Amino acid sequence: MMERNILHIDMDAFYAAIEQRDNPDLRGLPVIIGSRHPRSVVSTASYEARAFGVHSAMPMVKALKLCPEAICIPPNLKKYQNVSEKIMQIFNKYTDLVEALSLDEAFLDVSGSQRIFGNPRVIAQRIKENIKEQVGLTCSIGISYNKFLAKLASDLEKPNGMTVICKEDIKNKVWPLPINKMWGIGPKSSIKLEKCNIRTIGQLAQTDLNFLQNILGSWGAEVYHMANGIDNRPVVPHREAHSIGHETTFLEDTVDLEFIKMVLLDLAQEVGRRLRSQKIKGKTIVLKLRYSDFKTITRNHTLMECTDRDDLIYKIAIGLFKTNYDKNKSLRLIGITVTGLTTGEEHKQISLFPVENEKSNILYQALDKINSKYGEKTVTRARLVRKS
Ligand SMILES: [Mg+2]
Repeated sequence: MMERNILHIDMDAFYAAIEQRDNPDLRGLPVIIGSRHPRSVVSTASYEARAFGVHSAMPMVKALKLCPEAICIPPNLKKYQNVSEKIMQIFNKYTDLVEALSLDEAFLDVSGSQRIFGNPRVIAQRIKENIKEQVGLTCSIGISYNKFLAKLASDLEKPNGMTVICKEDIKNKVWPLPINKMWGIGPKSSIKLEKCNIRTIGQLAQTDLNFLQNILGSWGAEVYHMANGIDNRPVVPHREAHSIGHETTFLEDTVDLEFIKMVLLDLAQEVGRRLRSQKIKGKTIVLKLRYSDFKTITRNHTLMECTDRDDLIYKIAIGLFKTNYDKNKSLRLIGITVTGLTTGEEHKQISLFPVENEKSNILYQALDKINSKYGEKTVTRARLVRKS
């Protein structure tokens, strides 16, 4: 098997660092992201708060006992998601193989990127610089030939670290580490292993495999191999969404067909806009109807080609509506979802009328630009609103 080059990138105290970035008064102070509510837990602690022993997932009561002067800030997930999106875009410049583990953490397989961007260290350095310049934050990067070691490495020199683990480094850098640094070894397994005098990853690596399987079950073999530096799991890029949909519950149940068509058009435009903004297309259009008695039906239609176009989504949805709507009943909710999603590249839309298609792509780009600039639904295509 070809040697792989994997980066594990982990933002430093992500939520807290964003708040400190946006409010200079918070810089240098112990900041805890989380509400002051007695039953809440710490979401993220700034490095200043960590110095007092505060860490994520700690009960807030305990955190405030350790660090009474800490400044508590309720989390602003929307803001953190926006920052996360920018970071993921930076990662995607260097490779298509990006596997996000959370908002602030991802694996990148850069094996195929070296001819263009340089060796993994150079790529890691450039990513750090891009993040610093474009987002104003620091991260720690682990570099190795598999996922387990890359993730372990990113944790070794936090914050703002960059750590390489080669095959030759395993004995020096990995084996002395305590077993709770092992992927998949939680507190319970740690206690079991410590009872058997297994306290370091090195001791784990030299334990008899059968013995380990008796203690850890089926997970034992994986742990054993990882401790010995073997981990063949690929970096799997995945899209967050398997479908993109939108639905509307009417203020009052309705039988007004013209009104329902207008709402369907609105939904089709919203779904189309979201597909295009994420640069994905879908193959199956799903219509959802819920009647006033709460009976709910979904009907779908699969296209020959993937699409991200409002007019096509609308046309299919209206067709499904006409054939499936029970006119004797009033409608409570209506929704459109597009599934069978793929990124645009592997399913380029083939048109019999390439010029026409090209034109309408340009039109959509222009409409999306206006709509994202001035808020949603500023511009609607007149042809679509026309009564049919
Ligand atoms: Mg992090």
